[in-house]
Amino acid sequence: MNNSLDKIYLDYAATTPVDERVIEAMLPYFNLQFGNPSSVHIFGQEAEAALEGGRETIARILDVSVSEIVFTGCGTESDNLALRGIALERKLRYGADRILISPVEHHAVSRTALQLADRFGFRVEFLKVDSFGIVDPDYLRRIIDRDVAIVSVIYGNNEIGSINPVEELGKICRTHDVPFHVDAVQAAAHLPMRGIGNWCDAASFGAHKFYGPKGVGALYIRKGIPILPIQTGGGQENGIRSGTQNVPYIVGMAKAFELAQTEGLKNQASLIQYRDRIISSALENIKGIYLTGHPIKRLANHASFVFEGVDGNQLLILLDAAGFACSSGSACKTGDPKPSEVLLALGISPQVALGSLRVTVGKYTTLNEVEKFVTTLPLLVNKIRKLLMELKGG
Ligand SMILES: *Cc1c(COP(=O)(O)O)cnc(C)c1O
Repeated sequence: MNNSLDKIYLDYAATTPVDERVIEAMLPYFNLQFGNPSSVHIFGQEAEAALEGGRETIARILDVSVSEIVFTGCGTESDNLALRGIALERKLRYGADRILISPVEHHAVSRTALQLADRFGFRVEFLKVDSFGIVDPDYLRRIIDRDVAIVSVIYGNNEIGSINPVEELGKICRTHDVPFHVDAVQAAAHLPMRGIGNWCDAASFGAHKFYGPKGVGALYIRKGIPILPIQTGGGQENGIRSGTQNVPYIVGMAKAFELAQTEGLKNQASLIQYRDRIISSALENIKGIYLTGHPIKRLANHASFVFEGVDGNQLLILLDAAGFACSSGSACKTGDPKPSEVLLALGISPQVALGSLRVTVGKYTTLNEVEKFVTTLPLLVNKIRKLLMELKGG
C-alpha cells in the first residue's frame, strides 16, 4: 500500500512529516472537543480554550503579545495577508506606493508584490543581493523613505538556504517608520524566533515546514501596524482574518512550533553534519558543480547546487527511480523548463540554472541514508552527461 516506505526522503524544505506527538495533541479536537470557538456554550468554550492555548504557546515562544498572533490557512496566506494588507492600508492612509522586496523571495511574496504593482498602482523595487543571495543592508539604507509601503525579505531561503541579516534590515526600516515583513516560513525550523518583534513588524509561519500539519499558518503582526483585512466576515482573529479557526490544526501547529523551537534547535548538530557531508562529497566527486547560496550562513539542513550540462528535472527523475526524493529548489511542478528567478538573481546563467538540485535533510534522516545518497549522486550525474554526449555525438 505504501510504496514510499523504502524510499529516502531528502526534501524537508518542501514539507515535513507530522511529528507523532503533534498528531496526538490534535486528535481530541476533531470529534471530542469539536466546538466552534466562537460559540457561547461549553463546546465553544472548550474549543476557544484550545485555540487561545495555541496562541499563547506561539506568543510565548516569540516573546510577543497574544493579540499579535493571527492564525491563517498556510504560509502563503500569511505572506499574502502581510503584503497586501499592509501595502494597501498604507497606500490608503498615507499614499505610500513603493514596495521593496528582495529578488530571492518565495513566489508567495514576489507574485503578490507584482500583482500589487500590476493592478493596484504600486511600484515594486528589488533590493540588491550578492552572489550568495544575501540582501545588502546598505542599499536598503540608501533607497528607503517614508513613501515605502512595506519592505519584505525572506529570512532563510527555501531554494538556496541562505540566511539574511533580517535583524539589521528590520532596524533600518524601523528608523524610517516603514513596516518590515519577514518570510520566516523556512527559517522557523532552524533559527530561534524569540524576540523577532524587536526588529520586525510582521512575520509569516507555516506549520508543515516544522513537523506540523499542512494547511495552517500564522502571521505575527505587531501592535499598531496598519493592516487591511483581506478576508472579511465574522471578525475572528481580531477582525484581521475572518473565518472559523481550524482548531485541531492550530493546536498541532502550536505543539510543533514548541518542539521545533526547543528540542529542534538543540538538535541542529546532526543536520549540519549531514548537510556538510552532502556538500563536501558532491563538490569533491563531481565536476562542473557549484554550491548555490552561502557556504556558512545557510540553514542547517539545506544543500543546493547547480550543474553544468545536466538537466535538473532529468536528474530528479533518475534520483526518484533510484529511491531518493529531492527537489530542484523551486516549485516547477509542470515540468515548465524556465530557470528559477532566484538562481538568475545570483548571476547564474539560464542554462546552468536549469541544472539545479536541492537536498534537504531533517530530524528523521539517518547517516546511512546520507551515505547512500552521496555514493549515488555522482553516478547519476555522470549517466546524464554521458547520455547527452552520445546524443550530441550521434
Ligand atoms: C513553503 C514556503 C512558503 C509557503 O508556505 P505554505 O504553507 O506551503 O503555503 C512561503 N515561503 C517560504 C520561504 C516557504 O518555504
